[in-house]
Amino acid sequence: MSKCKYCGKEISWLKEGRKFSPIEGDGTVHKCDQMISSLRSIKKMERTSLSPEEIKKYEEAINKKK
Ligand SMILES: [Zn+2]
Repeated sequence: MSKCKYCGKEISWLKEGRKFSPIEGDGTVHKCDQMISSLRSIKKMERTSLSPEEIKKYEEAINKKK
């Protein structure tokens, strides 16, 4: 058994071709809000492909809005 790195729940990994899917004890695919939001933010970053400096400026702009 391993743990979901997002929510800490115990899961196992099922290999499907070249990718691994997290599986819960009852055999269903594990999904949690933390994982989904993390994957979404990764996808956003890939699409925009900002440089670290640009990301920093972007984050500063977000923080100023709050
Ligand atoms: Zn999880």
